[in-house]
Amino acid sequence: MADKSEGAKGPRPVVLVLGGGFAGIGAARALKKVDADVVVVDQHDCHTFQPLLYQVATDLLEPSAVGHPLRDLFHEHPNARVHLDAVTSIDLEKREVRFAEMQPVVYDYLVLALGAEVTFFGTEGAAEHAFPMYTLADAVRLKKHVLDKWEAADKDETLVDDGALNVVVVGGGPTGVESAGALAELYRSNFAEDYPDVRQEQARITLVEGSPHLFGMFKERLRDYTKGALEERGVEVLLGEIVEAVEPTRVKLKSGKVLEAHTLVWGAGLQANPIASSLGLELEKGNRIAAEPDLSIAGHPEAFAVGDIAWITDSKTDEVLPQLGSVALQAGAHAAENIARQLEGKETKSFAYHDKGTMATIGRGAAVVQLPHGRTLKGETAWLAWGTVHLALLSTGEDRAKAVVDWTWAGFTHERAARISVET
Ligand SMILES: Cc1cc2nc3c(=O)[nH]c(=O)nc-3n(C[C@H](O)[C@H](O)[C@H](O)COP(=O)(O)OP(=O)(O)OC[C@H]3O[C@@H](n4cnc5c(N)ncnc54)[C@H](O)[C@@H]3O)c2cc1C
Repeated sequence: MADKSEGAKGPRPVVLVLGGGFAGIGAARALKKVDADVVVVDQHDCHTFQPLLYQVATDLLEPSAVGHPLRDLFHEHPNARVHLDAVTSIDLEKREVRFAEMQPVVYDYLVLALGAEVTFFGTEGAAEHAFPMYTLADAVRLKKHVLDKWEAADKDETLVDDGALNVVVVGGGPTGVESAGALAELYRSNFAEDYPDVRQEQARITLVEGSPHLFGMFKERLRDYTKGALEERGVEVLLGEIVEAVEPTRVKLKSGKVLEAHTLVWGAGLQANPIASSLGLELEKGNRIAAEPDLSIAGHPEAFAVGDIAWITDSKTDEVLPQLGSVALQAGAHAAENIARQLEGKETKSFAYHDKGTMATIGRGAAVVQLPHGRTLKGETAWLAWGTVHLALLSTGEDRAKAVVDWTWAGFTHERAARISVET
């Protein structure tokens, strides 16, 4: 890479984009025509489309349909360079970022888009035994674990009685609901045929949520529909229950109930990337960095915090925006626009989120959509809308094509082609 260790003394300013998720990509791509060197650094070589991770875990999509090579996204961006490395520290005063392997980079502008990570809220045994759903590696690990459990039960039927096939999913938000629904469909259709001698009807999928309802962000009628749609698919929904401890084969709830299950999927909590806590800034809930209205970091007009690492307030509504891919993408692009404005000597602009609606899926033909002016959709229509929007969000036409082929095939045949384990 070009040596940036001397700082921005070269002919062009350096815009350093940390993170190649929705926010980082949104920013870096919007900087295509800006007269600056754009340097994108991520610890992974791919951009992960998190909303579809559960489809990798439940064999609907191949990992390559939701993880796209980062370098590939910048072939048409002559001013951008991508590097694979882990950020280890950021000095906002010196405008310097350190990495695990590369030389430090001194920047003129910074886009901090390192996302969030799972938090188990100190739940005993969760870090050791739970399966979080935040990275592609998490999804592939869960997929392999579930396939291994079924293969083991196929050889030893007594494992079914010990709960080897049972899954507890924690969290009644989109990650938990989508995972529980997809697992139930996988169990009741594909696995029932794959393993005709295994008593699949005894395999329990239980969704545990601490609050009195699923999908807190949706209207009541959509929450009720979601619970019913999950139950129809054979998911047991436990509301107002909190997981107290996780063991390899048992899950203990605060109420005293013990669930026999060899798999616990954790979709219950996120906190900002730990780098946020190392910056000496005052942090908001979930250790998120409070972004100024123009998305810069207080006292550092050249540094912007965007995506899940940031606490972003919508200048239109004054409400704090949720940690969503669409918010991250738009915020990244807005930070890029403000960098371009600063380079032209113009004032920065406040960020206003363009809300196209919130949606989540429960299973084949079942989803919920809440549009900005209160209109709601559910069932098949909502599911088609969900599919269209998620296809549009995938990074490239190639990813979209892969997802369409897999979804269409699965839609017609109920087949899940990604149902194999690959040993490495
Ligand atoms: C299972 C799941 C389902 C979801 N479903 C939806 C949905 O349906 N709709 C929706 O809008 N949103 C959804 N979201 C939320 C959405 O995915 C996030 O809001 C979005 O990914 C945030 O983007 P980001 O760029 O801030 O962070 P991320 O996408 O997490 O990107 C952060 C990047 O930073 C990199 N990174 C982290 N630490 C380091 C380091 N130290 N050094 C170098 N690189 C680093 C990571 O590798 C990653 O590529 C879902 C999230 C999950 C987990």
